[in-house]
Amino acid sequence: MTAQIPPHGGTLVTRIARGHEREELATKARTLTCVPLSSREASDLEMIATGAMSPLTGFMGHDAYEQVVDTMHLPGGIAWSLPVTLAVDEALAGSISVGDEVTLEADGAPLAVMEVTDKFKRDKRKEALEVYRTDAEAHPGVAKVYAQGEWLIGGPVRLFARPGHTDFLEFRLDPEETRALFRDKGWRRVVGFQTRNPIHRAHEYIQKCALEVADGLLVHPLVGETKADDIPAAVRMECYRVLLSGYYPKDRTALSVFPAAMRYAGPREAIFHALVRKNYGCTHFIVGRDHAGVGDYYGTFDAQYIFDEFEPGELGITPLFFDHSFFCRACEGMASYKTCPHDAEHHVILSGTKVRAMLRDGIEPPHEFTRHEVAQVLITHMLRKGAGTPS
Ligand SMILES: [Zn+2]
Repeated sequence: MTAQIPPHGGTLVTRIARGHEREELATKARTLTCVPLSSREASDLEMIATGAMSPLTGFMGHDAYEQVVDTMHLPGGIAWSLPVTLAVDEALAGSISVGDEVTLEADGAPLAVMEVTDKFKRDKRKEALEVYRTDAEAHPGVAKVYAQGEWLIGGPVRLFARPGHTDFLEFRLDPEETRALFRDKGWRRVVGFQTRNPIHRAHEYIQKCALEVADGLLVHPLVGETKADDIPAAVRMECYRVLLSGYYPKDRTALSVFPAAMRYAGPREAIFHALVRKNYGCTHFIVGRDHAGVGDYYGTFDAQYIFDEFEPGELGITPLFFDHSFFCRACEGMASYKTCPHDAEHHVILSGTKVRAMLRDGIEPPHEFTRHEVAQVLITHMLRKGAGTPS
């Protein structure tokens, strides 16, 4: 058997009830106070239950919350960068006491029972400044925090029903499933790639540089909640499908979806993305420019520098840092600022704004920038959107 990277904290958590226990919980859940989950909280619940967020066994209590916000560590000293919280409004908080069990439900469907060990108020502005490095309401992650209820409740969860996904079903693999996949394929060094965007040539190049020194690549696009102006997950999945089938080695590439919601927390989210991918069985994780960033809130390489704030070995997964990459006409190939000595005039670089404008007009970006097959998927999407058809 191929030795695999241990999950964060040493054990792959599972909080999914099965068989008899599952039926008991489902029955009990009907008698308990219901706590409605936002789409992010429902994503978090599923990731806790499947072990993607190991060593977390539930939503954070007071001490875990404070220590993660202040020090990026859990009580006990394990590294963890993002608060994973469950917010309730004043009225609901008034009807819940520590020691209660509550039913967690999403879109009206009961999913889990949580034992409430903590109920507390937080300093939202402090959380924003520490976690998001800004208290600006225009930041989409900060806006979400400000819009949440005043109280947080925390405690261990037991999941008895999965959120009712209807999309990407064959691509939804839990950590134990990706781990089994890597074992079957005999991959020892597995590099994970997080994305919430279509993959252009620059990211293809970065992935393939990493694959040159790894056994396998996990393309792991985020399909939880994103900003309204991000490209919808279904369109992105079609881009990945056509790209992978034409240009990636089948026996060394896996495509699966990552159920998390975006927080746009930049550096801290890069740490989170890496730790979670370790739980999925990745040994290496790609961190490019402005990973998980938004607007101008983070420096280009802040999401790489933050890895230095942890002791060697604390994270367990090895980050692979990449600079901006592009096709260089003088190099006659893909290159980056690390490898190409030529001036910008030789580089095929287009801004996101420019690319969107071209696609909207039905114009394919240069093939050195975007593969023809990917451009066609995006142009079709833009035309449909332009015609007012829901995408
Ligand atoms: Zn060059």
